[in-house]
Amino acid sequence: MSEERSLNFIEEIVEEDLKSGKYQSITTRFPPEPNGYLHIGHAKSICLNFGLAKKYGGTTNLRFDDTNPTTEETEYVESIKDDVRWLGFEWANEFYASDYFEKLYGFAVQLIQKGLAYVDDSTSDEIAHQKGTPTSPGVRNQFAERTVEENLQIFTEMREGKYEDGSKVLRAKIDMASPNMLLRDPIIYRIKHAHHHRTGDKWCIYPMYDFAHGQSDSIEHITHSICTLEFVPHRDLYDWCIEQLGIFPSRQYEFARLNMTYTVMSKRKLLQLVNENHVSGWDDPRMSTISGMRRRGYTAEAIRDFCERIGVAKRENLIDVSLLEFCVREHLNKIALRRMVVFDPLKIVITNYNNDAEMLSSENNPEDPDGGHRDVPFSRELYIEREDFMEVAPKKYFRLAPGQMVRLKSAYIIKCDEVIKDADGNITELHCSYIPESKSGSDTSGINVKGTLHWVSIAHAVTAEVRLYDRLFKVEDVANAEGDFKDHINENSLEIIPNAYAEPALLNDTINDRYQFIRKGYFSMDKESTKEKLVFNRTVTLKDGWKKS
Ligand code: ATP
Ligand code: MG
Repeated sequence: MSEERSLNFIEEIVEEDLKSGKYQSITTRFPPEPNGYLHIGHAKSICLNFGLAKKYGGTTNLRFDDTNPTTEETEYVESIKDDVRWLGFEWANEFYASDYFEKLYGFAVQLIQKGLAYVDDSTSDEIAHQKGTPTSPGVRNQFAERTVEENLQIFTEMREGKYEDGSKVLRAKIDMASPNMLLRDPIIYRIKHAHHHRTGDKWCIYPMYDFAHGQSDSIEHITHSICTLEFVPHRDLYDWCIEQLGIFPSRQYEFARLNMTYTVMSKRKLLQLVNENHVSGWDDPRMSTISGMRRRGYTAEAIRDFCERIGVAKRENLIDVSLLEFCVREHLNKIALRRMVVFDPLKIVITNYNNDAEMLSSENNPEDPDGGHRDVPFSRELYIEREDFMEVAPKKYFRLAPGQMVRLKSAYIIKCDEVIKDADGNITELHCSYIPESKSGSDTSGINVKGTLHWVSIAHAVTAEVRLYDRLFKVEDVANAEGDFKDHINENSLEIIPNAYAEPALLNDTINDRYQFIRKGYFSMDKESTKEKLVFNRTVTLKDGWKKS
């Protein structure tokens, strides 16, 4: 579909820049802060950045934006790399903003030397107060009068660790009356005696985002620095730094972040869900994280397809999670192995089947001509789904009922002859008869039945735990719902079926396989699954079953 759609606004800019000769080739970057796992919103950014470079023959860097020592961890770096690779992208270079600390420090010294930066001893409250308001200009304090020499000396001492956290900051000297508050002498360095995941204790001053991001882009010769709309006000400062330092002119472009119904996407909120045990971890299959979606059985193809379909917008919107689920179904329908699993068993005995068990052949995937077949054992005693039988059935009931016939998938037509009950009147089993000529594939019975049921042979079945997931939140727009976001958690988002009965072929499959449990939904093997205890996650239902209540 990518060939057919019109260009998005960023592609238009890139094509224009290549046509005009402004650039010979483009370089983009994906710049995650390693303070959490990536979520589906990041996937959007990844597909955009890597996708652009791929389309126009450029390259993309993976840059860890690790300028904040207190929230960042190596575990996150590794998970981010895993997720980007899993999504199907290769970065040209793996960079860390922290590798540029020395250069960034040099840039700050340059600004001081040009009289464009000064050390301020004010408290953060004082600085905020002196900034003014959007409608009234701010005022400079006496620290802005410090000489270049004095600033150089104190900034050096700041680096040497002479001062306490928060006692001094370095500010760029720009314009205290700018309508853009971020240009009112923004803080560009702060003191923080904290251990950094890569630079250790080498530094006790750290650059602010606005003094690190643009310059890092510039150092890497990023041509198109793509970020989300909340960075629009930062663009003036981005450009100011590049201009004053006379470095490679990277340019920033903003698009609307992805918001999706029934979920949260901020790392801060996702971390709360993990820390407060609302979910089992960052890769809980209900999470909006890439690792959660992967564990749930979503495919990288489906996520990329979703990102392509939602396009690149200039205005914030809320995307329906059903669209993502639609993409997942579309892909899984093509690749999923069909298997039969009974969740809530009702025993049936085929009273006229007196043979030994036989192996029936069943297609792995009717959508895939190369999908092959598997053996499914059939025998005298089977399980069907309890909900597929009704003792007193309404007129158009095409499943099993007394005297009624159904086809067993890939097997025979059977007829229910007798309902067996215990002393309390509970149905314990059904006695059925089968029609030998009705075997799937070579049916000469001439009998037509409307219903087809899934089933398993009791003697051959393997048990499996099946985990059924629902949406983690009960409201559509979680971020804008009243109260705390956790008030809206769906307490019934996980249902566990401890003992489902599965056909034995599932024992030989692997964690990378995707399944359609016939009539039940799409499933994938969970990472906790073992040969002794199979565990499956429901990836998505067969149809969009979510009704707005
Ligand atoms: P969060 O608010 O979820 O913690 P973030 O923006 O702080 O996200 P970063 O690690 O700083 O996360 O983001 C890396 C890149 O991913 C940035 O370029 C950011 O703009 C982009 N990004 C983050 N969230 C989304 C989203 N929901 N949709 C699209 N792009 C996003
Ligand atoms: Mg961030």
